[in-house]
Amino acid sequence: MPHSVRLHAHGGPEALVYEEMALPSPGPGEVLLRQHAIGVNYIDIYHRTGLYKLPSLPATIGSEGAGEVIGVGPGVERLKTGDRVAYAGPLGAYADVRVVPADRLVKLPDGIDYELAASMLLRGMTVRSLLRQVYPVDAGTTLLFHAAAGGVGLIACQWARALGATMIGTVSSDEKGELARENGCTHVINTKREDFVARVRTLTDGKGCDVVYDSVGKDTFPKSLDCLRPRGLWVSFGNSSGPVPPFELTALKGSLFATRPSILAYTATTQDLEENATDLFEMVLSKKIRITANHRYPLARAADAHRDLEARRTTGSVILVP
Ligand code: NDP
Repeated sequence: MPHSVRLHAHGGPEALVYEEMALPSPGPGEVLLRQHAIGVNYIDIYHRTGLYKLPSLPATIGSEGAGEVIGVGPGVERLKTGDRVAYAGPLGAYADVRVVPADRLVKLPDGIDYELAASMLLRGMTVRSLLRQVYPVDAGTTLLFHAAAGGVGLIACQWARALGATMIGTVSSDEKGELARENGCTHVINTKREDFVARVRTLTDGKGCDVVYDSVGKDTFPKSLDCLRPRGLWVSFGNSSGPVPPFELTALKGSLFATRPSILAYTATTQDLEENATDLFEMVLSKKIRITANHRYPLARAADAHRDLEARRTTGSVILVP
């Protein structure tokens, strides 16, 4: 009997219940996957707590996984039984088996195994869209990236280095700072000890950064805005400390720009999805980016994975193994 981790009501990690499930069957345009690795992302915490709405309860949360196609629904032509695939987006990942719309799956190239795929697809495509599309980072760019030693953060360090940019990263401990530096972050700020606005001003000779990538939200607002040069871009893409409160447009003084990107919007078409994933796979296969899945839990212990991610005890990626 397959198992899934279901949420019957919003709550803490204990609300995640490991239970038996019936084997689903793929409908038109869908495939059935046997999952071999599942990504744990911060969005799973937003779904668990209710910060982000779920279509209904009970629900199986999780937005990232990798596995083997074991069944194909009517009308699916681009995939067949035995294909190795991964996805980032469709809700319902915390399960041994699941159905996924075929057009949301990417085929895994040789050299990318299931655990590697589940450690990087959602986070890596997020970084790719942030650094290549939301703001086109290049060797002349100075950027501030919060949570630089996290799952998204460590990939951003390496991608920014590959683009030749100057990256300033924030972290909450010296150990995390060391890790960010090893992964290519140019300057590291330990927010437990230093005021990040003052330090950014010093590091940029008072000019400010071209772009700030902020996934922390409540705790770093509005200070992140003070780290930008005039006409710089504030990219608010997450809420790990809570959501950014409503604010007056005049907070964007200095002719700042603001955006709230979502990876779903940047991979909405199959072409966007494939372009993004292909670029990410190339970065990894050419060894410009090394993915660190520092934390691996059995599916039945999803609650522990949430506890560690939420308590800032993790670095790099977190995965579940069915
Ligand atoms: P991380 O591994 O980065 O974990 C979150 C990190 O945020 C922590 O390790 C911690 O780093 C930092 N943090 C700062 N304040 C807090 C706080 N109060 N509570 C918890 N953590 C805090 O997670 P992910 O890699 O999964 O995701 C990173 C961020 O990117 C999340 O906010 C997520 O929502 C966002 N995201 C957004 C996407 C989008 O499409 N918009 C897609 C993917 C991710 P430290 O201790 O060093 O400060």
